[in-house]
Amino acid sequence: MPDRSRSEVAFAAALRVLPGGVDSPVRAFKAVGGEPPVIDRGEGAYLVDLDGNRYVDYVCAYGPLILGHAPAAVVRALELAARKGTAFGAPTELETALAERVVAAVPSIEKVRFVSSGTEATMTAIRLARGYTGRNKVLKFAGCYHGHSDGLLAKAGSGVATLALPDSAGVPASYAAETLVAPFNDVDAVRQVVERHGDDLAAIIVEPVAANMGVIAPAEGYLQALRTLTSEAGALLIFDEVISGFRVARGGAQTLYGVMPDLTCLGKVIGGGLPVGALGGPESIMEFLAPSGPVYQAGTLSGNPLAMTAGIVTLDALAEPGFYESLDARAARLAEGLRDAAGQAEIPCVVSRVGSIQTAFFRETAPTDYVSAAASDTSRYGQYFHAMLDGGVNLAPAQFEAMFVSAAHDEAAIEETIVAATHAFASLRTTAGRR
Ligand SMILES: *Cc1c(COP(=O)(O)O)cnc(C)c1O
Repeated sequence: MPDRSRSEVAFAAALRVLPGGVDSPVRAFKAVGGEPPVIDRGEGAYLVDLDGNRYVDYVCAYGPLILGHAPAAVVRALELAARKGTAFGAPTELETALAERVVAAVPSIEKVRFVSSGTEATMTAIRLARGYTGRNKVLKFAGCYHGHSDGLLAKAGSGVATLALPDSAGVPASYAAETLVAPFNDVDAVRQVVERHGDDLAAIIVEPVAANMGVIAPAEGYLQALRTLTSEAGALLIFDEVISGFRVARGGAQTLYGVMPDLTCLGKVIGGGLPVGALGGPESIMEFLAPSGPVYQAGTLSGNPLAMTAGIVTLDALAEPGFYESLDARAARLAEGLRDAAGQAEIPCVVSRVGSIQTAFFRETAPTDYVSAAASDTSRYGQYFHAMLDGGVNLAPAQFEAMFVSAAHDEAAIEETIVAATHAFASLRTTAGRR
């Protein structure tokens, strides 16, 4: 096991001043045990911790880093932008430039509002849907995560599921009562909700490719059915593409599956590693937002020039011909290598992948919803996770997350990962039954 003594000292110091030692719960290794390495820097596909240990990184900041860590073009642009000032509280051309790129790439979007996180994007989308329709109820799906706002923290996947907090403390029951929950990939369940609550249904919000209960693709025809049912009910369809946007395709899941939502939430990739979220849709709905319309939303650092700059440079890199094909090929090779490694060790494990996001579930068959995903062997995932970390590969410290492949994950990094996985799966075999 690599020496992590400096990380141990640094994490002990963190525990004295930060609740749980972290600023976001999943980082704390609660689901897998142990303590996280404390990071010094990122270099392309690699993370380096305080003790100098290097890891091939598949967390990639939970999705934003589609170009890998510290890509030269983004760093250079940020240096220049910082010299001009880091915030103005006034319009800049950078906001328009990033918005134009989003509008050009994402087919259902005509206008964009930038915010500072995915949570703000989904929270605002819900408020806008309610303001636009004059209705109250929102339907979400078990295992889909839409940030940590009160009304959306019901059956919310990875972080929450892992901590076994079905709902957070501190959320009034009256808020949660406006949120309806149905299983993912089950059209009949949605039909029943629409029949019962259709008149008061403001929106259905969905991750069109679920990625917060591990990666689960939408079943054939599922997104189209959501489109039809919401249109019939006069409710809005909101695609939360905070992970899938500019990730599973340049135009997001809506391009990949050919289904157009009313509103789209973006985040992660569009900020190029800086804090950005966005909400977009047709002008007729977006103009309901203040100052044009009656739905209030604001942000001191919204459209921040550094964040806009990182987003612009990142989206321009993604527009290069062949970018997604090449990313997909690397991710496919990784999935195949992991499947083979698990197969050789006779460990039940299924790799579920959409483009450059994938999850190795410790179960026999690919899950289709939260219940089947949750039936994975999480204690085995914990053993696998630690074997991989000790072998120089950084995975998310919970079964129900995605592995993010970036453009910096070259053949060498992928092959290094497969070798580590072969050892990790073999070690699970010898410890099988022991816990
Ligand atoms: C990460 C995520 C969010 C929340 O974004 P933050 O920037 O963490 O607030 C919302 N929706 C989905 C699908 C996400 O993966």
